[in-house]
Amino acid sequence: MGATGLIQAFDPRCVVDAISRVVGGPAALHEPRFVGREWDYVKECIDTGWISTAGKFVERFEDMLVEQTGVGHAIAVVNGTAALHSCLMLVGVGQDDEVVIPALTFAATAAAVAYCGAIPHFADSCPNTLGLDPAKLDAWLSDVGRRQDGKLVNRLTERRIAAVVCMHTYGHPVDLDALVEVCNRHGLPLVEDAAESLGTTYKGRHTGNYGVVSAVSFNGNKIVTTGGGGVILTNDPDLARRAKHLTTTAKLPHRWEFSHDMVGYNYRMPNINAALGCAQLERLPEIVEAKRLLAARYDQAFAGLGGVRFFTEPGFARSNYWLNVILLDRAQADKRDTLLEMLNDAGYMSRPAWVLMSRLPPYAEGPRMDVSVAEDIYDRLINIPSSPFLVDPR
Ligand SMILES: *Cc1c(COP(=O)(O)O)cnc(C)c1O
Repeated sequence: MGATGLIQAFDPRCVVDAISRVVGGPAALHEPRFVGREWDYVKECIDTGWISTAGKFVERFEDMLVEQTGVGHAIAVVNGTAALHSCLMLVGVGQDDEVVIPALTFAATAAAVAYCGAIPHFADSCPNTLGLDPAKLDAWLSDVGRRQDGKLVNRLTERRIAAVVCMHTYGHPVDLDALVEVCNRHGLPLVEDAAESLGTTYKGRHTGNYGVVSAVSFNGNKIVTTGGGGVILTNDPDLARRAKHLTTTAKLPHRWEFSHDMVGYNYRMPNINAALGCAQLERLPEIVEAKRLLAARYDQAFAGLGGVRFFTEPGFARSNYWLNVILLDRAQADKRDTLLEMLNDAGYMSRPAWVLMSRLPPYAEGPRMDVSVAEDIYDRLINIPSSPFLVDPR
C-alpha cells in the first residue's frame, strides 16, 4: 500500500511520534527487571556458600526449563555462545566442516561454528519470519550438494556440510516443520539457535523442541536473564548425558580422583546465576504477556502510517516479541539512518539489524547462497524499545 502514492510522503517524525505514543518517554532497547524473588535466591547462595558450579539452583533451573519448554532435557551453561558451541560439537561438527547458518544473525552463531574449526556457510532469510528460508535452502542444497559416503559434500568447496543452524530472529520462529523436512531430506542435523526465543511457540510447541539440540541465552538483554548464562536443550537422553559430560570438564565421577576421558569444557553455569534464573523463570509467562501487549500497542500505533510497517509474528507462531521490529518500505530505506539518529536523539534506543555475517571480515570470503533477502531486510529494519512492562496492561 505504501507505494500507491495515495499516502502522504513518508515523514520519519511520524515514527518517533508513534513510538512516543506507545511508550510515553525515553526507553532503553531492552532492560532486565528484578521484581520477583531474585534477591532472596541470590542471598541464599551467599548465605549458604553455594555460589559456584555445585548447588541446588542449577538443577532447579534446569527442571524449570524442562517444564516450561517441554523439551526433555536441559543442561545449564555459562552463556548462549557456549551452549551453541556445545550443540555443534554434540552433532559432530569438526575441523573443516561447513555449517549452514543464516547470514542475518548475531555474531555468536558464526563464532560457535568457527570455534569448532568449521566454516559458516551462509543462507538466506524468509521475509515472513526473518529467519532461514526452508524452500530456498532446499533448492540450494540440491544444487550445491553431492552425496558421498553417506555425507553431504559441497561440490564447490569439496568440504562436508555437517549441520544446519536456524535462528529464531528477535523471538519469531522459522517455519520449523518445513525446515526439519529439508534437513532430513539432505541428511543434516538441525540445531536451533533459540537464544532469543524463550517463551516462543511454533504450532503450539515451544521452540527448542525441533532441533536435535538447541541453545538458549540468558544474557542481560534477553527475555529473562541469569546475568550471563545459557542452556542446551535436547529430547535425546543420550545427547543430554554427553552434553552434561562435555560441559563439566569431562570429569569421570569418582569420590576423590580427578580423571577426564576427553577434552572437556568448563562451561557449567554457576549456582548464583541459576538462582537469579529461577526467580526470573517464575515470571516468564507474565513477561511474555507484557511483551505481547507492547507489540500489540505498537502494531496499532503503526497501522495507519505509510512507508513503514510493524513486523508481526508469522501465522504458525506465538512469539515472545523479544525485540520489536519495524521495516521501512523499500522506497524509504535511505532514511533508515536518519530515523535511527532521530530515535536515539529523542531517547528511544533503537538500532539496525546486525551487520550480516556474510559481510564480516573473518567470513567475507566464506561459502554462501544468494542472500539478497537478508540484505534487503538489513537495509530496512530497525529494532525499537522492547523492555517488558513499558506499557500498562490496563
Ligand atoms: C544472545 C545471542 C547468542 C549468544 O548468547 P550469549 O549468552 O550472549 O553468549 C547467540 N545467538 C543469538 C542469535 C543471540 O541473540
